[in-house]
Amino acid sequence: MAILVTGGGGYIGSHCVKRLLLDGEDVVVIDDLSTGYRDAIAGGRFYEGDLACGAFTRDVFEKENIEAVIHFAAFSLVGESYTNPGKYFRNNIGAGLTLMDAMAACGCKYLVFSSTAATYGEPCHIPISEDDPQRPTNPYGESKLAMERIMRWYALAHGLRFCPLRYFNVAGAWPDGSIGERHSPETHLVPLMLQTALKLHPRVTIYGDDYDTPDGTCIRDYIHVCDLVDGHVKALSYLVNGGECTPFNLGIGRGFSVLEMIDAAKEVTGLSIPVTKGPRRPGDPSILVACGQKAMDTLDWKPRYTEPRAIIADAWRWHSRQR
Ligand code: UDP
Repeated sequence: MAILVTGGGGYIGSHCVKRLLLDGEDVVVIDDLSTGYRDAIAGGRFYEGDLACGAFTRDVFEKENIEAVIHFAAFSLVGESYTNPGKYFRNNIGAGLTLMDAMAACGCKYLVFSSTAATYGEPCHIPISEDDPQRPTNPYGESKLAMERIMRWYALAHGLRFCPLRYFNVAGAWPDGSIGERHSPETHLVPLMLQTALKLHPRVTIYGDDYDTPDGTCIRDYIHVCDLVDGHVKALSYLVNGGECTPFNLGIGRGFSVLEMIDAAKEVTGLSIPVTKGPRRPGDPSILVACGQKAMDTLDWKPRYTEPRAIIADAWRWHSRQR
């Protein structure tokens, strides 16, 4: 029986594929390579195509004996989702529906879903727990929340067993530097800082320094991609062992400001990282920190990386090879 990883050529998907292969799993990958990379996929059987195409996706399910799906394939740029919401709703929800229809038709029951802290929007308190209100402030978060809700109806109608995993800020790379974060264009803080250290950008713009936080910059909960992937592996075995359909936050439970992250990156690289102050980015809450207790208690999950320097050190190993 195989595990299907959708978006297996993307940043998180490629780390998941590598981990599953190391665990000895039989892995099938679907990716349309629109934002993913063929050379990031460490193995398994690869099908290049559009998940939203019913005939293509159904064909993969008919050829392969797929027991479970880990669904990463989605567009994920918050800024772009504001300017092109249709692209986000069509792809993130449309492809999700096609996938779940194929699963239902082929009797595949287990789905671990890549969701996001962006489904919470502006939090009502910190740390954020899974029962807190979900009021997304951008179309990306809205598209993921819609999928969380839709999955419940597929559970009722088709017996789907699912866990949405709500990611906080994912960073880092496979520790040997063989795969890492590769977006084009890059918009995320950690890769941008490291690319600036490498002089690929002149400076990092700090999006707002007038937030109600100790140093005025936004605070986020940064989780290592390998810890995040470990959460997926554990969520899948939880589902297969009869666990109930329920969401889990994946974050370390501690927040770091943009300035603290920049200082950590300077320390790790030993290089200068020029910064400039810019306006706030629309839709950015001041503080996002997870309560990760539910995942720790229920999934027996524990992040191994608990401070930014170690996460940035792994990211740096990858980025410094990309010159
Ligand atoms: N950020 C920043 N400058 C950048 C990119 C990000 O100041 O060039 C800030 C952003 O406002 C947020 C944090 O860094 O507070 C993390 O942003 P990122 O885009 O990495 O992840 P997101 O929180 O959007 O998922």
